[in-house]
Amino acid sequence: MLDILIRGGRVIDPETGFDTVADVAIAGDRIVAVGHDLGAARQVIDATGLVVAPGFIDIHAHGQSVPADRMQAFDGVTTALELEVGALPVGAWYKRQAQVRRVLNYGTASAWIFARKAVMIGLELQDGEASLTVMGRGADDPRWSVQAANEAEANRIVALTRQGIEEGGLGIGIPNGYAPGAGAKEMSLICDLAAETDTPTYTHIAQMSNIDPKSSIEAYVNLIGLAAATGAHMHICHLNSTSLQDVDRAAKLIAKAQAQGLKITTEAYPYGTGSTIVSAGFFADPAFSQRTGTGYDAIELVTTHRRLRDIDDLLASREADPSALVLWHFLDTEDNAADRALLDISVLYPGGAIASDAMPWTQPDGGLYEGDEWPLGDDKTSHPRSSGTFTRFLRQWVHERQMLPLGEAIAKCSLIPARIVEPCAPLFRRKGRLQAGCDADIVIFDLEQVADRATFARMNLPSDGMRHVLVNGQPVISNGILDLNAAPGRAIRRGDR
Ligand SMILES: [Zn+2]
Repeated sequence: MLDILIRGGRVIDPETGFDTVADVAIAGDRIVAVGHDLGAARQVIDATGLVVAPGFIDIHAHGQSVPADRMQAFDGVTTALELEVGALPVGAWYKRQAQVRRVLNYGTASAWIFARKAVMIGLELQDGEASLTVMGRGADDPRWSVQAANEAEANRIVALTRQGIEEGGLGIGIPNGYAPGAGAKEMSLICDLAAETDTPTYTHIAQMSNIDPKSSIEAYVNLIGLAAATGAHMHICHLNSTSLQDVDRAAKLIAKAQAQGLKITTEAYPYGTGSTIVSAGFFADPAFSQRTGTGYDAIELVTTHRRLRDIDDLLASREADPSALVLWHFLDTEDNAADRALLDISVLYPGGAIASDAMPWTQPDGGLYEGDEWPLGDDKTSHPRSSGTFTRFLRQWVHERQMLPLGEAIAKCSLIPARIVEPCAPLFRRKGRLQAGCDADIVIFDLEQVADRATFARMNLPSDGMRHVLVNGQPVISNGILDLNAAPGRAIRRGDR
């Protein structure tokens, strides 16, 4: 007898192009059949009028907690991976997460930048510490950020990063923009390690600027050079934000590099506002406004919604709390058609993934919130992308503006991210697809209703339209209601099959 039968929905499999009204049969944690007359089941989900698709795989999720998982479940996410920053030590991170009642499947990359902090300034890495907390540490001694490593240091950075991969890291997180001082020799060694171990790298490019020298374009060209020189798979994080006004030029260069067979992939999130920590080095660049085209008033402190006045205000704020989260409004997608067109290029980039860059949830005192409260209170802040990335994409780009067919949109949220990670974790061949034998990570949504609700004023509003969400065959959301006891999320490590 089947465990669950999903009956009569519009079933979409992005790999085969299957897009037909059919039933989906689930036994245990797997899909066992797709078709008609599949037999009796303990539970039947009526999917009439709804879309049935593989659960979304978010390869850029910094939240990694129960509240982050719950908000992302309403956004259709069934697997949330911390790949851009990563964690270190990786084994301790997985150990700590195993004690959390994770709702979604999870995993991390090995954190090159933490290895760098440990080697360059002797920062002690604490077992299982949240990645964004470690990102804020060491702000008082910026050598890890601005200085090139000598040969001995570079070798130790590579050795620590390798240890993270060997402990199960799903690749190497390279938030180069936070350590732009890292030299080409060190980066080439890190990319050698990636190529040798068949693990992708996930890069936040070394610099963001509309003008040379040290433009965004220079950083993309360097990244393409590393892919060519070492054979490493270079994944480019958030093409929408780090390209600033040069999205079109960046997209053209990436496409040319891909056409030459280089292993380069990319992702975007559907907002013109970024989020990071206030101590990010590029904010303190004296030429910040000239290089980015935005003023300090484009930077907003998340917990207080206060906009900064000038560089002195920025420096005082980072002194007060280097890990404080900020929003950075770099594109005006509400009122500026040219900015909206730039966002379109990144979101619709052919073969590109949608990835949220979801941020952790923060309490009014600035500390991370990782508790059990539901619904999340209005005093918990993050970024609307932590709640609404995938549903916003489906709402605006697919349903309202009809910029791409539904099957292709589903691929950008599921199959394409699965393919990015699967060379290092073959288990992903069973995810991002809706076929017999695949994992029963499934979203069932109403295309008429699916929409993000989170705004910059109220980030804690879960999205609409996800009627049922299953993770490993277990319902997390049923008839639009979250099961507070559901914790079916599993760890995914390098080598898992
Ligand atoms: Zn980033």
